[in-house]
Amino acid sequence: MTHALREQPATDIINPATGEVIATVPAHSKDDTREAFARARVAQKRWEKTSFRQRRKIFLRFHNLVLDNRERLMDTIQDENGKSRLSALEEVLDVALTARHYGYKGEKLLRPRRRKPVMPLLTSTWEQRAPKGVVGVIAPFNYPLALSISDALAALMAGNAVVLKPDSQTPLSALAGVELLERAGLPRDVFQVVPGRGSEVGQAIVEECDYLMFTGSTATGERLAQQAAARLIDYSMELGGKNAMIVAHDADLKRTVDGAWTACFGNSGQLCISIERLYVHREVAEEFIPAFVSRVQALRVGAGHDWDVDMGSLISVEHADEVERLVDDAVDKGATVLTGGRRLRELGDAFFAPTVLTDVPESAELYRAEVFGPVVYIEVVDSNEEAIERANDTTYGLNSSVWASPKTGRAIAKQLQTGTVNINEGYAPAWSAIDAPMGGWKKSGVGRRHGDGGLTKYTEQRNVTQTRLMSLMDNTVPRAQWAETLATMLRLGRDILR
Ligand code: NAP
Repeated sequence: MTHALREQPATDIINPATGEVIATVPAHSKDDTREAFARARVAQKRWEKTSFRQRRKIFLRFHNLVLDNRERLMDTIQDENGKSRLSALEEVLDVALTARHYGYKGEKLLRPRRRKPVMPLLTSTWEQRAPKGVVGVIAPFNYPLALSISDALAALMAGNAVVLKPDSQTPLSALAGVELLERAGLPRDVFQVVPGRGSEVGQAIVEECDYLMFTGSTATGERLAQQAAARLIDYSMELGGKNAMIVAHDADLKRTVDGAWTACFGNSGQLCISIERLYVHREVAEEFIPAFVSRVQALRVGAGHDWDVDMGSLISVEHADEVERLVDDAVDKGATVLTGGRRLRELGDAFFAPTVLTDVPESAELYRAEVFGPVVYIEVVDSNEEAIERANDTTYGLNSSVWASPKTGRAIAKQLQTGTVNINEGYAPAWSAIDAPMGGWKKSGVGRRHGDGGLTKYTEQRNVTQTRLMSLMDNTVPRAQWAETLATMLRLGRDILR
């Protein structure tokens, strides 16, 4: 936790790209987590009384501190996750953008709003928003700064305290982020980080929190959703994906080849919104496929803080084993490897080559399952309609990428069953449009982050209605006569009080 507790067993944090132990962090227990909640509840009472102006000031100071300290943050992210510097930069920018967005927009979204009363003049109605209390955030390893801090920022702006469990493999970025928030003026105990296992800290969060913000696999999300439902607490789930890219007949192919590698291999494919399936229109397939494959072959894979590296390692040797198993299964069942398809043990045991497959049979596990690694497959289709049908043929619905002329792109986008659609990009522009909601259809999630709802979900609503002059139920008038009066007023008001 950010603040000292009793002695705990420790977890070694390993740089997956080098295999080195870079830090040792306490592995906290359920009891520690409950203590963190108790402190957060006390701190939250004071925090909710702060003005929007005060919160905005802290958020904007934090925005600048994040940018000023970006080199240190990127080092931490890369060292605990193994990703490239470019992927680490995405996280820093996301946190700054989110702080700025909710810093400026928070008050407008949260201040009391007048609502239409049932009887104007006789009554006035306001909608008020109050914080939920203590929000539990459970985060995954893949964007250890952004997915820990950005969702928490919205909860904090709404007056909540936050208890966060980062992934056990990657707690350091979240700890660094909270340190900067406290330097920006966030009071102690309002945002606590409790490193530890999902089965301990994660479970205690689900048992204690007033709202659950979970990002991770669909399997874990389904389980936690049931637990939250049993407690009748609200939750938001950002889950897995098997995202498709469509290359339409009128795509600008040079631009598509340049953009597609980031869409597929950004963060070594360990990105919920990265692409794992490409549907390429037959008219352009002959030109696109070899150009894309040779662009992928030119990617620079490696470790370290050098900006020139395009792709880093996977999160762990175990995850590389799983990616290898899925690729081998596809190849055994008839898939063709266009490039990659193997470990890069010369770089380290957690490295896997950026891989492009084709002829993947439906019987292969990765045909439908999320790999969460640098592995994509290509299918050639005869029409844009066929591409849309294939893209939607999945239990997931997180992100799609469409490469086409603007008109074709928008026409295709309307038919895709995903929470975001990026036209002529992979994932970044829709994600970074923080003013718009972002999340998953189908098994990719429940609720949304970003947008107005990404903040208001962390609040309870209160309808306050004040009655003036007389009661709506006048007991001095005979009831039948009163009923007639009300009916007449409703009739008269039908088109006036719309
Ligand atoms: P995961 O296994 O579900 O773990 C995510 C987090 O949940 C970790 O902090 C984990 O803790 C914790 N956890 C696991 N079991 C738990 C339990 N029983 N109770 C409470 N907490 C528990 O996910 P992952 O495989 O590491 O992450 C990758 C997945 O996340 C992919 O499917 C990816 O698509 C998805 N993802 C989605 C989004 C999105 O925005 N939609 C963003 C990023 C990632 P420990 O592992 O530390 O024990």
